[in-house]
Amino acid sequence: MNATPLRPVIAIHGGAGTMSRDSAAAAQQAAYHDALRAVLLPPQQLLAAGGSALDAVTLAVELLEDCPLFNAGHGAVFTHDETHELDAAVMDGATLRAGAIACVSRVRRPVRAARAVMEDSDHVLFAGAGAEEFARRQGLEMVEPSYFSTEARREQLKRALGSDRAVLDHDGAALAFRTPAPPLEERGKMGTVGAVAFDAHGNVAAATSTGGMTNKQPGRIGDSPLIGAGTYADNATAAISCTGTGEMFIRLAAAYDICARMRYAGLPLDLAAELVVQEALPAIGGRGGLVAVDRHGNVSMPFNTEGMYRGYARVGEAAHTAIFR
Ligand code: ASP
Repeated sequence: MNATPLRPVIAIHGGAGTMSRDSAAAAQQAAYHDALRAVLLPPQQLLAAGGSALDAVTLAVELLEDCPLFNAGHGAVFTHDETHELDAAVMDGATLRAGAIACVSRVRRPVRAARAVMEDSDHVLFAGAGAEEFARRQGLEMVEPSYFSTEARREQLKRALGSDRAVLDHDGAALAFRTPAPPLEERGKMGTVGAVAFDAHGNVAAATSTGGMTNKQPGRIGDSPLIGAGTYADNATAAISCTGTGEMFIRLAAAYDICARMRYAGLPLDLAAELVVQEALPAIGGRGGLVAVDRHGNVSMPFNTEGMYRGYARVGEAAHTAIFR
């Protein structure tokens, strides 16, 4: 752990899960590394130019939302009713201001709507029709719900419908229909996207965006838009963005719990995050991981699955991306 301020840094995740047994998966790894790197570079440049952590995480998540490889924005999973319901949140560690939206199906970039809730309303969380109306009034780009649909996700829903359960991101995915296969096993992968950043002014911020879980019941809201569960940022401790079985992250107030362990028990970020991801979550059946950055700029990216799409880019250094341990 480094106690002196490090250079600004952006860290991102694109979902956690188990390794694909499909041999084509190895060949696909490069595509995921390339996508992660492409997402890291613009916010890294923004931070290098003195930009804020808040702008860096918003930009990173927007780019992840636009990339169909990840379950957020375009490429989001389907609900049981073959609709899309997207959730997103953003939090500014400098002011503890936060904004979130849940259950929207027409806002092209949900993270922008979350940011607008934070900056242009007196509230923290809008859901459903009211959230969409708010986004429209803010002049945000609206799309037909079909914009979010991809064939791969439809196949995934068909498989999940047979199981009668809500499944994590690609849980119902038909690898056979996706050629070549992605490196993380679609049936065990979480797909929320998220970002945390530490800027040159010493501020931290976090943002998270998701399509939720395939075959989820309409109206179900996960941890991603709930401040303290899937997303949290406080300059006093750290910024956190989670991915995984949302219900367990909600029950533990997982993101806030990491900050609380740091603040009240004096734990360093790495240890606080490890205890939540490797002990507290598994104890109630929670699977997934997170990216975090503390107030000194230290990055932590723990997960309790076989892999997690992740990466970070510190100003002045090459970007690092990884999928497995
Ligand atoms: N945490 C998300 C949710 O429960 C799912 C995910 O990370 O894939 O909505």
